[in-house]
Amino acid sequence: MSGPLEGTFEQVRPSPTARALDEAARLAIDYLRGVADRPVGATAGAAELADRLGGPLPEGPTDPAAVVAELAAGADPGLVASAGPRYFGFVIGGSVPAAVGADWLTSAWDQNAGLYVASPAAAVVEDVAAGWVLELLGLPAGASVGFTTGATMANFTGLAAGRHALLATAGWDVERDGMAGAPPMHVVVGAERHATVDAALRYLGLGSGTARVVGVDAQGRMRADALAETLAGLDGPVLVCAQAGNVNTGAFDPIDEVCRLVRGHGPGGWVHVDGAFGLWAAASPARRHLVAGVEQADSWATDAHKWLNVPYDSGLAVVAYPAAHRAATGIAAAYLLPGQERERDSFNLVPEASRRARGFPVWAAIRSLGRSGIAELVERDCRLAARFAAGIDRLPGAEVLNEVVLNQVLVRFAPGAGTAGSAGAGAGAGTGAGVDGQDAATRAVAARLQAGGTLWAGTTTWRDMVALRLSVSGWCTTEADVDTALAAITAAAGAP
Ligand SMILES: *Cc1c(COP(=O)(O)O)cnc(C)c1O
Repeated sequence: MSGPLEGTFEQVRPSPTARALDEAARLAIDYLRGVADRPVGATAGAAELADRLGGPLPEGPTDPAAVVAELAAGADPGLVASAGPRYFGFVIGGSVPAAVGADWLTSAWDQNAGLYVASPAAAVVEDVAAGWVLELLGLPAGASVGFTTGATMANFTGLAAGRHALLATAGWDVERDGMAGAPPMHVVVGAERHATVDAALRYLGLGSGTARVVGVDAQGRMRADALAETLAGLDGPVLVCAQAGNVNTGAFDPIDEVCRLVRGHGPGGWVHVDGAFGLWAAASPARRHLVAGVEQADSWATDAHKWLNVPYDSGLAVVAYPAAHRAATGIAAAYLLPGQERERDSFNLVPEASRRARGFPVWAAIRSLGRSGIAELVERDCRLAARFAAGIDRLPGAEVLNEVVLNQVLVRFAPGAGTAGSAGAGAGAGTGAGVDGQDAATRAVAARLQAGGTLWAGTTTWRDMVALRLSVSGWCTTEADVDTALAAITAAAGAP
């Protein structure tokens, strides 16, 4: 149908697109309105969800709005309320409202952010957001920034740039000739690096097993004296991976000292900092000291989908030397029409060509929070983590295992913790015959919390001890939420 009738028709009966988007907006708003009150964990298992959402391959079309409604209804009991205020698992933030709105537009606009000509708006917004991120994180203004899927690919990108630079200096073109026969280059990591650093080293052909592993202290921080010793024994250039924010304790490697030692290494070196969430400490005047010296590094990986609270997926790869960055991840083909000078072709900065315009929600989050709002978000989550730790300290038989310097709290429970007559706080954690009992008790507390639905937290193993991990990374968690969670933890710990 065409001509004037079409308009009339549209007014009476909205288009399938409009009805699908209206339905999605209604469902999304309802979901977020109720997210603080629903059970935090999923209430259905894989088999039930497969029943709800499975079935034979649809033979023909279904109305788009009905499809959206069917997906929402089917998925609901399998959703995890990580967008809400009492999700403390892994390191998972929610999404600030402006970022969700911008993310919806990103889908509607459906821009390919891979190259400038495919979306000048996406390219310029990324440039602007990149500049803001560098300023917030205290990184060099001239650094290049790639918008990756997450910190895993950001680690990959930073390490790829470092591999390029060190081998180019040694006269080797690693992009052309690969690693076989390359001059020696040593990878150095801390014993408490994140697992994705190993993944990145694997993808780069550097191997995760060949890295020199530097010892750490009780909080998981790389020991500077041990790094100095390691470097003294290496006669080639070094690619050193430091960490800002240990995924269990939140602790920071002594980055200033790491950079100083690597600068002093005769054959040359490159410092990459994995700061998936910890790098955001730089955005808070009260926590900035934790990343002192970070601007001296050569590359950095961080996430926007963790502490900046934008929707998945969103990471940032930052490299101090744009030429090394492009050499490592740039691509060229005759039909990939390059932008002019100052026109950003993002496919040169990430290990992807076509991709989502994830700069829009990053721009929106920073635009809506501003410098002070981001500082307050980081600081508030750290304060709430300290509130957790103080509450746990008052709970008989429960013990905080880490120095709570950031947003991470590790908790260990004695059997029957939380009840009168249980072991006092700190009694014997990690020693003697109680260790297995404490591991089991801690796992049991976590299982009860997960089933209870008031909050969600996972477990980890820290220095051979099972611990409950509490990560406060969301923008909407309040003191009242922490107190509600503490009451649930007290009950779960006291349960037989
Ligand atoms: C989460 C995390 C990663 C991996 O980030 P993704 O965004 O999940 O790819 C890497 N390093 C650290 C320290 C992390 O916390």
